[in-house]
Amino acid sequence: MEINGKTRTCGLIGYPVEHTLSPVIHNTLAGVMGHDLVYVPFGVEPGALQDAVRGAYALQVLGLNVTVPYKSEVIGCLQDMDALARRIGAVNTLVRTEGGFKGYNTDMEGLYRAMISERIKIAGEQIILLGAGGAARAVAHLCALKGAGKIYLLNRTLDKAEQVAEEVDHAAGRKLICPMRLAEYHEIPEGKYLAIQGTSVGLAPHDDEVILSDKAFYEKIHTGFDLIYNPWETRFMRLVKASGGKAYNGLKMLLYQGIIAYELWNDVSVPEETAQIIYRKLMTHFVQGQRDAEERS
Ligand code: NAP
Repeated sequence: MEINGKTRTCGLIGYPVEHTLSPVIHNTLAGVMGHDLVYVPFGVEPGALQDAVRGAYALQVLGLNVTVPYKSEVIGCLQDMDALARRIGAVNTLVRTEGGFKGYNTDMEGLYRAMISERIKIAGEQIILLGAGGAARAVAHLCALKGAGKIYLLNRTLDKAEQVAEEVDHAAGRKLICPMRLAEYHEIPEGKYLAIQGTSVGLAPHDDEVILSDKAFYEKIHTGFDLIYNPWETRFMRLVKASGGKAYNGLKMLLYQGIIAYELWNDVSVPEETAQIIYRKLMTHFVQGQRDAEERS
């Protein structure tokens, strides 16, 4: 693309940001949609977040994505916040408005669109949610909002699981979540569950690690969704498949959270065929990155 005086800038703030795939999503989208827009990752060192957000606003930046470790801290730098982001307590997208940025959370809606595209249902489902960090908390809110039956929330640290359960049950106005220690997984009643893996266990380069390895646990799972997309197939996914379930990774979640952010920044709706073009491009990029890494090692 040719950058000129009218080119709008969007970007990502986080630390570190070197390995992000978001520029592939947004720069390809801008090309396909015909927008004069460029997307750049900005590494923001600890302690510099406030200055970075204020500076971005002064530089007429149209919008920003926010990643680890700033999804909560950035709330203190905002002019306004969307109700859903407020409910989740985390922001991953900033949209330029009069006088400052408004914060949104597109991770949750991104996961929902990814699930719709894979024909995975939440309403009425019995769900096992692994993890109680930032991402898992958003997933718990999503499941509550979309009418999940019951959620067994397993986490290494019980306190955090209890905190998420209290917060989500309160927001949902019903007792929905059963918080448990990870080691208590065998107490989950017999049945078939949708399991969502929301911990960071199994993330590259720790490909061989898995949150639970007991085969009996995997026999309860009809569908497993891992929020991790690197590696492409996690050990959690392999164990779900080995027990006869279907398994999906988190790349489509990444895709759709980006698409929703792009829609907010540009006030457009991205057609599904365009989403599929971007997904193929993401996969090609991802596979090429894996090959380059293998060649280097
Ligand atoms: P986080 O806030 O740091 O939470 C990490 C979670 O993993 C906590 O529940 C933590 O348990 C658990 N955990 C970490 N190490 C563990 C271990 N050794 N044994 C047992 N549990 C362990 O991270 P996050 O932001 O929620 O992200 C979680 C995962 O989701 C990451 O892999 C991230 O890449 C992925 N994610 C994907 C997308 C996407 O678009 N696909 C978006 C967001 C996040 P404790 O509470 O006990 O510490």
